[in-house]
Amino acid sequence: MPPIQKPSDHYDLVVIGGGSGAMGMSRRAASYGTKVAVIEEDGRLGGTCVNVGCVPKKLMWHAADVAESLDHASDYGFPGVKRPAFDWRTFAKKRDDYVKMLNGVYDRNLAKDGVDYISGRGALTGPKSVEVAMRDQDGKFEGEKKTITADHICIAVGGRPVIPSDKDVPGASLGIDSDGFFALKEQPKRVAVVGAGYIAVELAGVFNTLGTETHLLIRHDTFLRSFDPIIAETLQEHMGKTGLNVHKRTNIKKVEGQKGGPLTLHLDSGKTLEVDCLLWAVGRRPNTDYLGLDKAGVKTEDKSGNIVVDEYQQTNVPNITCIGDVAGKALLTPVAIAAGRRLSNRLYGPEGLRGKDKLSYDDIPTVVFSHPTSGTVGLTEPEAREKYGDDQIKVYQSKFRAMYFGMVGEDHKEPTAYKLVCQGKEEKVVGVHIVGMGSDEIMQGFGVAVKMGARKKDLDDTVAIHPTSAEELVTMR
Ligand SMILES: Cc1cc2nc3c(=O)[nH]c(=O)nc-3n(C[C@H](O)[C@H](O)[C@H](O)COP(=O)(O)OP(=O)(O)OC[C@H]3O[C@@H](n4cnc5c(N)ncnc54)[C@H](O)[C@@H]3O)c2cc1C
Repeated sequence: MPPIQKPSDHYDLVVIGGGSGAMGMSRRAASYGTKVAVIEEDGRLGGTCVNVGCVPKKLMWHAADVAESLDHASDYGFPGVKRPAFDWRTFAKKRDDYVKMLNGVYDRNLAKDGVDYISGRGALTGPKSVEVAMRDQDGKFEGEKKTITADHICIAVGGRPVIPSDKDVPGASLGIDSDGFFALKEQPKRVAVVGAGYIAVELAGVFNTLGTETHLLIRHDTFLRSFDPIIAETLQEHMGKTGLNVHKRTNIKKVEGQKGGPLTLHLDSGKTLEVDCLLWAVGRRPNTDYLGLDKAGVKTEDKSGNIVVDEYQQTNVPNITCIGDVAGKALLTPVAIAAGRRLSNRLYGPEGLRGKDKLSYDDIPTVVFSHPTSGTVGLTEPEAREKYGDDQIKVYQSKFRAMYFGMVGEDHKEPTAYKLVCQGKEEKVVGVHIVGMGSDEIMQGFGVAVKMGARKKDLDDTVAIHPTSAEELVTMR
């Protein structure tokens, strides 16, 4: 279903943004009989996750995973199987078609639930009113304008990638960002990815696994620094063996060349690096520039620009709430969705939930689609030691080779490393950190265990599933 053409003048709830958070919030609110509208400026629903985030990223990761399996095929009794060159152009088209199909699913879901989808850019004009600017023929938001009012407004506008300014790094704009990654029509032969967060690690991993000469430039000695050290250490050591070049303590001073490459990167070490594509994955900022926050008096954090909310997603303006990336906490799709659903429960839900429900931001499990994948929940070892003191913390750790790699040649073997961080006499499991094949799928269940307050003894009392890697997590001594 396309967006509606004639929005009502007044709604119970207007959600600005049509991404993960908005979907969770609006559909749950509509299920309680609330009259809801979602305003999305991008021309398609789904937001970052569906269009330029989790979904197309995971498909690229799957492509890389298939490439790895092809490398292992001859070791698994398929003699002569060799990996052919990856057809980036064809796969990218297929991936984009899949995303388009999902956009349609999102359209239909809103229509089915009776949520009005308004295509345009929303801006607050007061605490209870939003002006929607439609696109004109040139695609600018200078078309028809319509003001709608609402008893409640939820801001769910997400964020966007940042790249350094040309003033700070001359030529920086010759590079692309993570959105640009998904717009690449051809596979670059040589790429430099700048950044140390999970997006940088994931995209560098995809490039490298699919055969691009890949350089990952990080400012410090390690990447994924907010994760437990076992993850970064294990991945970093392994990456060296896979040919992914990690340049530690490296910054770009200047970029020369043409948009679309080749590019010469002048590094602060005095060396240069020649690449065909430069990808900045150095952070994201909230999409608040056109939102009219000042007109409604909504407060933002000074430095980050994130909208300030309390534990109930409440801004400083009574009838305006905010969810998802733009609130700056745990920037993940399931977090945005869960925050939105629970907020609707609190505002419109049945007794027991109304006035109360909220998302707990503790113990959120998450995964990095690295090669191999990694997963984490709870406190890292340094965080746990800091919080409880060294004498309260016991760490169980195991490094081993998954059985799968027993069959493959030395060049293709991958590591597995697991860590349990336990606290107190009872050995409550306060952190689980894993890296190795299958970690992405293993993590969800251990996320439940940690959330339920499992102790080491509870893991020990659970019978192992054999032969798997995950069994190690219930048999560690
Ligand atoms: C490369 C990449 C990979 C990722 N991988 C994962 C992953 O594997 N797992 C995971 O959990 N998370 C992942 N994320 C993060 C995830 O995509 C976000 O946390 C999630 O999309 C946030 O949802 P949101 O609703 O807050 O914002 P968004 O999904 O960004 O939605 C906000 C929407 O608001 C719209 N908008 C902005 N301003 C206006 C306006 N003024 N008027 C109308 N509409 C507006 C935008 O166009 C956008 O569609 C990834 C992100 C990136 C960039």
